[in-house]
Amino acid sequence: MPKASGRLINQIRKDDPIVKYGDPVLRQIAKKVIFGAYEDLPEFTSRMLEIMYEARGVGLAAPQLGILLRVIVYDPGDSPRAIINPQIIKMSGEQLDPPEGCLSLPGLRGAVKRAYSIVCKGYDEHGKPIRIRAEDYEARIIQHETDHLDGVLFIDKAEKDSLEWISVDDEEEEGEESEEVVGTMEKTTAG
Ligand SMILES: [Zn+2]
Repeated sequence: MPKASGRLINQIRKDDPIVKYGDPVLRQIAKKVIFGAYEDLPEFTSRMLEIMYEARGVGLAAPQLGILLRVIVYDPGDSPRAIINPQIIKMSGEQLDPPEGCLSLPGLRGAVKRAYSIVCKGYDEHGKPIRIRAEDYEARIIQHETDHLDGVLFIDKAEKDSLEWISVDDEEEEGEESEEVVGTMEKTTAG
């Protein structure tokens, strides 16, 4: 199966689509999207958002689906967004809270120092150039997700003594059992 052409949506794994820590794909550098090479880019970013919401995350990068392309989606709480070929061109200030988590490292969280405000340029899913000025939580999510495109994980940057495992019930029951995790996710950044 080609990894970088044709229909992207078919390259997403049907069950358990999110790649977990230990898979080498999470450490590789993603390639820039060439517009026109993929017929289903808007459909692909919509599917990414669905997977992100299902996993109760606030951000997701294409390498987390095993697809090495520079595509991120996120939702800071007000609306879903996709950025293709994101590039952070300005960073200023500092923030340390809230702790971050990652859908590829379930159960782990830690404090990561990030820029407080950023300017990110890139393209939307239709190829239109965009420029996003973000701060605080949204800026944190974009920094976490763009790191994924360069094979960088939040544990690489976390304050060493801040990493901790969130206690999750061992029982693997479906549905409502996840309530405890949701409460935690609201306080953390899981992408
Ligand atoms: Zn992540």
